[in-house]
Amino acid sequence: MTPADLEFDQRHIWHPYTSMTRPLPTYPVESAEGVMLHLADGRQLVDGMSSWWAAIHGYNHPRLNKAAIEQIGKMSHVMFGGITHPSAIALAKQLVDMTPEALECVFLADSGSVAVEVALKMAMQYWQARGEKRQKILTLRHGYHGDTFGAMAVCDPQNSMHSLYQGYLPEHLFAPAPQSRFEGEWDPQEIAPFAALLAEHRREIAAVILEPVVQGAGGMRIYHPQYLHQVRALCDEFGVLLIADEIATGFGRTGKLFACEHAGIAPDILCLGKALTGGYMTLSATLTTREVANIISNGEAGCFMHGPTFMGNPLACAVASASLSLLAENRWPQQVAAIEAQLKHELTPLGAHPAVADVRVLGAIGVVEMRQPVDMARLQQHFVAEGVWIRPFGKLIYLMPPYVIDREQLSRLTQAIARALTTLY
Ligand SMILES: *Cc1c(COP(=O)(O)O)cnc(C)c1O
Repeated sequence: MTPADLEFDQRHIWHPYTSMTRPLPTYPVESAEGVMLHLADGRQLVDGMSSWWAAIHGYNHPRLNKAAIEQIGKMSHVMFGGITHPSAIALAKQLVDMTPEALECVFLADSGSVAVEVALKMAMQYWQARGEKRQKILTLRHGYHGDTFGAMAVCDPQNSMHSLYQGYLPEHLFAPAPQSRFEGEWDPQEIAPFAALLAEHRREIAAVILEPVVQGAGGMRIYHPQYLHQVRALCDEFGVLLIADEIATGFGRTGKLFACEHAGIAPDILCLGKALTGGYMTLSATLTTREVANIISNGEAGCFMHGPTFMGNPLACAVASASLSLLAENRWPQQVAAIEAQLKHELTPLGAHPAVADVRVLGAIGVVEMRQPVDMARLQQHFVAEGVWIRPFGKLIYLMPPYVIDREQLSRLTQAIARALTTLY
């Protein structure tokens, strides 16, 4: 890659949440293997991000590569309308087996945001079919559910700049974000505002959507499972559907296969994405119960009204199926537990630094929250010089490494954060 290539990138290519007039530096990665990213200049970085929760088994994994290559040899894609194929069936079987028992109908979509759109549409069609017009969604502050309009309307209003889209975004209901810490005392008062909103709008609310136990891109907040437990009980009491967005938390990241297990609950609709293909390509799934599926199907429309062009893409399904087979070999619980123990041991002391507001760890997620927003470009440069890939946002410096990371590599990540605190603050 030449300097001219990088200049072209800056002039012509949008990156996530970037400006064309004030582009941030980008680092050219030419290949990746295991937990290492290989930069074009020959440097190697330990990956602390799993490419945003996704690359749980590490990069360039022989088993995932094999699944992709075998599928390419048969067909990369075929339409899903009127056609089915072995990879979609294998994947759906695995998903139905590994998720809560009542979830048995699978919709394969293109990305996390679309999985959320599908979940919201399912909830609305469900109520329409039952003869009720319910179009409000109840959700939590600090939530993140994706960047498309439907999903954005249930994201934290500040983080996703609802004011910019006022009049265009549907207005939903937001309860305060949970405050009790995962391992702290549960404060029973905490559910009161949520319960009050649900009671007040009981006949308008189609569904509750939330990220179970860990709110990801809306602030990396880790909350008490009792909150989730209470939400389930209230949804049952008021007859409202519960959508669990496990796009970030799913597939072992929090120490349980799905974060809902921390509270011992099952949702009516479950969104999965990110790590579904082990980070190889984009694919998501929305699962629901037979009851919800039947009611939708017997409604006025006579079907569920959604069907993307690349639905059930065989290549993505084949790799996802191989990734779930790797998970089924059950090395992840020990790997994630070891990462959690090491992150607690090595990150917790950083809480003593005056610039640090909080340190929190759950499963293979470690968060150092600063008192002030960080200078992302400057920190990123420090991390690359340290030989690690960590991408902070807002006030948050956080780690969510591939599960296959070893002790020494994980220490390089935590030490790079520790040194950032001592040299830059
Ligand atoms: C990333 C994410 C999404 C959106 O997924 P995309 O694949 O980026 O569209 C939705 N919900 C949660 C909880 C996420 O973390």
